[in-house]
Amino acid sequence: MTRHFLVAAILGTAACSGTRGAGPPPPPPLPSPTAPSADLITIYDAVRVPGLEDRRFNHATYWRAVTPYLGGSVTTVTEGTSAEGRELRHLSFGSGETTVLLWSQMHGNESTASMALADIIRFFHDRPDHPLARRIARGATIHMIPMLNPDGAERFRRRNAQGIDVNRDARRLQTPEGKFLKAVRDALEPEFGFNLHDQSAAVRVGRSDRIVAIALLAPAYNEARDVDAKRRRAMQVASVLVEAMDPLVGGHIAKYDDTFTPRAFGDLMAAWGSSTILIESGGWHDDSQKQHLRKTNFVGILSALDAIATGRYADYDPAVYDNLEFNGRSVPDLLVAGGTLAVPGAPTLAADILIRYDRPLLREGGRIVDIGDLGEAQAQDTLRVDGLYIIPLPEALDEDGGLNTGVPAMFVAAEDSLGRRVRFRFERGPPQREN
Ligand SMILES: [Zn+2]
Repeated sequence: MTRHFLVAAILGTAACSGTRGAGPPPPPPLPSPTAPSADLITIYDAVRVPGLEDRRFNHATYWRAVTPYLGGSVTTVTEGTSAEGRELRHLSFGSGETTVLLWSQMHGNESTASMALADIIRFFHDRPDHPLARRIARGATIHMIPMLNPDGAERFRRRNAQGIDVNRDARRLQTPEGKFLKAVRDALEPEFGFNLHDQSAAVRVGRSDRIVAIALLAPAYNEARDVDAKRRRAMQVASVLVEAMDPLVGGHIAKYDDTFTPRAFGDLMAAWGSSTILIESGGWHDDSQKQHLRKTNFVGILSALDAIATGRYADYDPAVYDNLEFNGRSVPDLLVAGGTLAVPGAPTLAADILIRYDRPLLREGGRIVDIGDLGEAQAQDTLRVDGLYIIPLPEALDEDGGLNTGVPAMFVAAEDSLGRRVRFRFERGPPQREN
């Protein structure tokens, strides 16, 4: 990834100015302080909240983990209730002029940023004298609503208990969760908003093979996708995020689709006047519980809050964000290549098989999404089965005994077409090798 970091830009400008008039040229202006992400990475382990190592936590588990860090510099402002009566909490930190509102897990199965907000709350609570915490508290008032959709979190699903996607309820406000967020927004009229989500771990950066760890968006506030002063500020904060997250996920940051969605909270928050930033946590290698992306959110969000509280974001070039490649294609999880398909009662044929997991990070719930000559197909993993027969198990066959796409990935790869001498077994999870 090309980096266009600010310090180089400022030094470059300084080198070609200040030569007119008599006397020695003025000293170049000091570069603005670099993002403190190195320091945040160093202290992270000491402020990480224990008890959230499994990302499928529910409301009770989450607040049991976070409650020890409430009080002191972190105050509870208002409380609401979800459709099923779970508590929605609005917390705040700092007393500076610029108002910032962050909300997470509006989609119940998107918990990465809730974990990061827990760590940020602990950082504010345990380290109020840390220079970064002091700068934030002096320049900004930070409002947080972690886990906006606890009923969805209880089931680890996207929608709330009413079956509504809260992020499509910004106009009608039929969900208690959407109403709560809107009421907090209306009371605060925040200058900045952070809309915190997770996206599929299968998405790649642009046309590359690189997995998207983080996708960012400064959402459009109208159909024309104009860039006014407020959207430009959001883009500058997104550039801060790119710089701060780069040491952890460099080259794996993409830009989210910026089509205006007039029912979505992110877009309407922008239309209602907040400079809004969407952060989507995607996937990372060997990180099924998204703990690396949790840390990346912690470092990125605190760096962005610091830049907002100090005004330092205004020095950033929006192009750092704007030049990111978009989210690209979604790559299936597993390609089983080079085998001979042997459906009982049918002629054998050369066929590759492509599999997508319903729960990709856990590699569970495999389904067949394509069958045939898939020589150019890309997948996260490829298993060569040259010389082996692919024999579907009964669970994978339709009523007529045939194989089709969409069926559970249940089959064996064996040395003969009758399924003797099985080498690999697929039961909706990753291939199991047999002896
Ligand atoms: Zn979402």
